[in-house]
Amino acid sequence: MQRLAPPRLADFVRRLEGHIEAFAPFDAAAPPAEFLNRAGKDLAHLVAADDWLPAADRVAGEEHYRQYLLYLDPEERFSVVSFVWGPGQKTPVHDHQVWGMVGVLQGAERCQSYHADAEGVRSIGGERRLTVGEVELLSPEQGDIHRVENAFDDRDSISIHVYGADIGRVRRWVFPLGQPKKPFISGYGNGPGNPPFLLKAS
Ligand code: FE
Repeated sequence: MQRLAPPRLADFVRRLEGHIEAFAPFDAAAPPAEFLNRAGKDLAHLVAADDWLPAADRVAGEEHYRQYLLYLDPEERFSVVSFVWGPGQKTPVHDHQVWGMVGVLQGAERCQSYHADAEGVRSIGGERRLTVGEVELLSPEQGDIHRVENAFDDRDSISIHVYGADIGRVRRWVFPLGQPKKPFISGYGNGPGNPPFLLKAS
């Protein structure tokens, strides 16, 4: 089965390719601020409408949030993922190793930043709430360790995440409170009915 990208997603991918090429080469862990700002504006536009993401990419897990790979750049310079949060579902405290962006498509998320050092992790600043259409930018160089959760305990929320690699295969870290950090590879929840989108039929 092949799935062609909805025009709104295809448009986003083309614009992101343009920004990456405009700023190339750069370290995915230390993206230029202006690159992230421009890409973030395009992500805000992508999530400003909620009529393009198919039902198969909006299914929450029973116990844990799910991540569906929507698009992988053939050169693995970036991936676009839908995160679907069931009521009350949350991530552990984690890092990304590469730049990232989060845009809320449906519902709302709560985000808390953390700082990690030899003594462990501690929260930095207050919790932020991200609602529909809002975008958060992440740069490892600036500190990207965080925990994200559904702001609702009675309905699903969905966000579109973009990362500077094939994020489901990146070896990164989770930071369990009071314990040493642990290696983590997130994977994806796609099934045969929702393979990643293509820009053109192959
Ligand atoms: Fe994250």
